[in-house]
Amino acid sequence: MKDINEIIKKAKVYGFHEATFLDVSTIKLMDEVRSMCEDNRCNKYNTNWSCPPGCITLEEGRKKLSNYSKGIIVQTIGEVEDSLDFETMMEIEEKHKRNFYEFYEIIKERYENSMAFGSGCCTICPKCTYPNEPCRFPQKCVSSMEAYGMLVSDICKSNNIKYYYGPNKIAYTSCFIIK
Ligand code: SF4
Repeated sequence: MKDINEIIKKAKVYGFHEATFLDVSTIKLMDEVRSMCEDNRCNKYNTNWSCPPGCITLEEGRKKLSNYSKGIIVQTIGEVEDSLDFETMMEIEEKHKRNFYEFYEIIKERYENSMAFGSGCCTICPKCTYPNEPCRFPQKCVSSMEAYGMLVSDICKSNNIKYYYGPNKIAYTSCFIIK
């Protein structure tokens, strides 16, 4: 726990607005969330190794998660003018992803078998090799929480962190799990 508290403190210094302890037993990998991916509202379904159907199956995901008990949730929160302010949303998302990938490198240095679940699909390469060539950077590629079947709002609630911050705010949520 001492270790986790240190990481939480570091995450906040590093630029995340919120960070808290994640109890891995609260994570359920749900078929319903995967079905939402199939609806393809984000236009990423079947386009990237980090997204369904190219990423891990739920059964494989459950097996992996069973080896973990703790982690942290991180959030980047920003102000938007309204629900159509996509430009600001993208800026906040970019900031979140930048901090997320950099912070994952710090976590990996300390915890060899850590895993990360991001917000949105993997954007490491300008164009993903899916489906014709294998992933270029399997050690760096990160799936979203949703791609693993996680209902982010439920996980936030179970771990006492807000998911919704009000009508003019947007929060990007990601998490790391460690052994
Ligand atoms: S690292 Fe590159 S090839 Fe691999 S999933 Fe991400 S974008 Fe695709």
